[in-house]
Amino acid sequence: MNTDMNRCDTSPLLGYQQALEQLTRSVEARGGMVNKPLLQALGAVLAESIESQIDVPGCAMSAMDGYAINTADLAAQDTTTLPLSQRIAAGSVAEPLAPGTAARIFTGAQVPSGADAVIMQEQVQQLAGSISFESRPANGDNIRPAGNDIRRGTTILSKGCRLRAQDIGLAASIGLQSLPLYAPLKVGIFFTGDELVEPGEKLAPGKIYDSNRYTLYGLLESMGCEIIDLGLVGDTLDATREAMSVAATQADLVVTTGGVSVGEEDHVRIAIEQLGELRLWRLGIKPGKPLAYGQIDDTSFMGLPGNPVSVFATFCLFVCPVIQIMQGRQWRKPIALPVTADFDWPKPDSRREFLRARLATDAGQQTRVQIYPNQDSGVLTSTVWADGFVEIAENQTVRAGDSVNYLPFAQFLD
Ligand code: AMP
Ligand code: MG
Repeated sequence: MNTDMNRCDTSPLLGYQQALEQLTRSVEARGGMVNKPLLQALGAVLAESIESQIDVPGCAMSAMDGYAINTADLAAQDTTTLPLSQRIAAGSVAEPLAPGTAARIFTGAQVPSGADAVIMQEQVQQLAGSISFESRPANGDNIRPAGNDIRRGTTILSKGCRLRAQDIGLAASIGLQSLPLYAPLKVGIFFTGDELVEPGEKLAPGKIYDSNRYTLYGLLESMGCEIIDLGLVGDTLDATREAMSVAATQADLVVTTGGVSVGEEDHVRIAIEQLGELRLWRLGIKPGKPLAYGQIDDTSFMGLPGNPVSVFATFCLFVCPVIQIMQGRQWRKPIALPVTADFDWPKPDSRREFLRARLATDAGQQTRVQIYPNQDSGVLTSTVWADGFVEIAENQTVRAGDSVNYLPFAQFLD
């Protein structure tokens, strides 16, 4: 485990890459296994790889409504007429195909043994008790062979994948009723700040509505976490320490907002140091500089800054990877897309900046990236307007027309 620290507020800031590497190295998969019915598995993380015990489909099936034939029966004349010998609907069992005949067959019905092609009904003229056709189907036409989708013994879903609708559909297609899942990660949250009141309450002078709670709820729920909400916590060391120690006993990970800076009203970092160990603090990023990471017994702790945009950004950049690894998932660094800037960014900053941005097409149908005009970390509107971040490297400036790195929000929050 890495114990690098930069506690002193005058020490150099820890770079984005370094912080990400330290964080992702210092956490590991958590949680026991539970078996859950398929319909309760959406968004959960698979705890074991799934191998199919069957072929899907289990036998050759027709891909069309039409007629099953044996191509060896087709004479070298222009039109072929074959008598009908059976009718095979989806779900019924086919008799072997009588030589020199055709079988009426429907999509999803078992192809009879002895047949090697299905002619589409649109290509056939129906006569009384027989069919005639001009087309010359090839062996295998319109037939889905056994194992066309899945072969017995294949791994269909890998341990550590987060289950999407199509993954659950695939599990159902091999007949599974339930899946082995990791128990949801328990995330304790609280929000520091004497200025905060909850939506619905009267806004007294000097107060603001607590928005971070609602942003964090959505982010954590969308990642499949179980939330333990300790609510608003006042700006005292005692209250902060109390909330932190309660959260640490109940949760795998604690995430808080506010109170991580260097003012006298900021108690979160000191509370971590008193209760456990502060491992990382003050990063060279904007927004989000005062982010703190530490450990209290076996609970990881992430103190996000209070500014609402910083909460959203640091959640995407640092909390998402931590959660994904703790959930037992494979974490991959989001892939930045090179896009043409539709803006100037003339002022270099020694911190790496994550501007709220969105894609647009210009008159010539070229994709360009725009940034929200107000990049203040208190302007939550920027996160609603945007679809992603533009990442500006330390000391980099940008002129319209330059290529910049664009990171869609969806890449972090999957
Ligand atoms: P802090 O990091 O505690 O110094 O807070 C930085 C800024 O974020 C201050 O302007 C706070 O009022 C604001 N802030 C802190 N917590 C919240 C919250 N839960 N919802 C909205 N704004 C907040
Ligand atoms: Mg505060």
